[in-house]
Amino acid sequence: MIEVLQNYIDGQFVSCSNHIDSYNPATGEVHVKVPDSGQDEVDKAVKSAKEAFVKWSRTPAKERAKYLHKIADAIETRLEEFAVAESRDQGKPVWLARSVDIPRACLNFRFFATAILHQINMSTVLEEAAATNYTHQAPIGVAGLISPWNLPLYLLTFKIAPALAAGDTVVCKPSEMTSLTAHLLAGVMNDVGLPKGVCNMVYGVGPHAGEALVTHPDVPLISFTGGTVTGAHISAKAAPFCKRLSLELGGKNAGIVFEDVDLDKCIPTMIRSSFANQGEICLTTSRIYVHRSIYDDYVKRFVEAAKNLTVGDPSDSNNKMGALVSKEHLAKVTGYVEKAEKEGATICCGKEPLSLPDRNKNGYFMRPTVITNIKDDSPAMTEEIFGPVVCITPFDSEDEVICRANSLPYGLAACVWTESSGRTHRVSQQLDVGTVWVNCWMVRDLNVPFGGAKKSGIGREGLHDSLNFYTEVKTICIKH
Ligand code: NAD
Repeated sequence: MIEVLQNYIDGQFVSCSNHIDSYNPATGEVHVKVPDSGQDEVDKAVKSAKEAFVKWSRTPAKERAKYLHKIADAIETRLEEFAVAESRDQGKPVWLARSVDIPRACLNFRFFATAILHQINMSTVLEEAAATNYTHQAPIGVAGLISPWNLPLYLLTFKIAPALAAGDTVVCKPSEMTSLTAHLLAGVMNDVGLPKGVCNMVYGVGPHAGEALVTHPDVPLISFTGGTVTGAHISAKAAPFCKRLSLELGGKNAGIVFEDVDLDKCIPTMIRSSFANQGEICLTTSRIYVHRSIYDDYVKRFVEAAKNLTVGDPSDSNNKMGALVSKEHLAKVTGYVEKAEKEGATICCGKEPLSLPDRNKNGYFMRPTVITNIKDDSPAMTEEIFGPVVCITPFDSEDEVICRANSLPYGLAACVWTESSGRTHRVSQQLDVGTVWVNCWMVRDLNVPFGGAKKSGIGREGLHDSLNFYTEVKTICIKH
């Protein structure tokens, strides 16, 4: 029997009349039926969240923090169940969900639970005006949270945790492809006794459920993570309402490898940054510029390492990579490789979908793919592929590579590899991106801002940025 998911509205699991199929990427079979919600379901969820806001926004921070810790505890207790659900939803290896995604989701709750206990308001005395100024940070209302499929629990909880910590209530619209994971989270919210209406979960597709949320007049905040085209569309839809918007969008991240690096350290990290989670991470490195003097050696060693990555059933912990999220996405990713080959590029390894036996015979698998001899204006070099495909190209000078790295409309992240401290600062400061990693990748601390430049996003997430996004800062001036 295929499980039929229910929305979580006003502290109740409620059925929906229409459903869509959600496929397990590793088997190609329908594994759950997801509510195809629309205006009606969103209206009910927003109404409940609006009513719950009255009490939740006045609940002392200490009490809100206790709920967030309880949620983290409950996720930890059910860690294996969450890891398997994420893998069934998205195709990622269970070991990866177990070791990265789910622990990070717990951290999201614990981090913001403790952060709100340490906020102090400073006041300023204006002597000439004989007045005292101070700021008061107040929750805003119902936050609409829309998340993508690639890091299902990690990204959804990176929105829910700061919103609830700040005193807002939420209506979540997770990706229609990874609703099982969100459904388990709704179960946790219910089990820990979170007051009804504080966190609602409405499933469905973007144009129905998502858009109903974005255009709902009682939802003053929208936090969206997803593709750039969707983000621009949401931005236009939200504009007439003057909503507060946070947009975390797509990327086409460059890696820049200078001639002074230790390739024994660089290559394993760049392999991870290119192929972890099947390359389905917004921060994935998808174009690597290597100094011409080490280019041949780099390509040889990188291709060897890529060929050694095992791809297969996500439940087998020997496999480094699982399945791509959907049949359509697999076709899109392989399409970029075919196009590049037709243009004359060299496909060093990978390329085609990978056929596996038995339960995986209809799964959406692909080997790590490395492309060289590719022109800078090829779609594989300019567009977000969001799969296990990386292009490698040589460069001759620092100025040239900065210019080529900055030439695209995206600006999410970049990796720079060098032993020179002068070059580290020079190059990092000139790259038009939100995050530069030097001699590393994906090292994240929630205290620091995270987000994209140019078409990769608007706004930042992280300790202060997230708490500021979900609150209104008022200045109060009192005449003595
Ligand atoms: P997507 O834009 O297709 O969908 C994201 C979410 O938006 C889903 O929940 C979807 O249902 C919803 N949606 C779609 N159309 C909508 C509409 N008209 N109105 C309201 N909601 C709508 O993205 P995706 O394919 O799920 O995710 C992949 C993309 O997300 C990639 O581009 C990736 O780079 C990006 N991403 C960015 C970050 C970041 O932090 N910058 C993190 C992860 C993923």
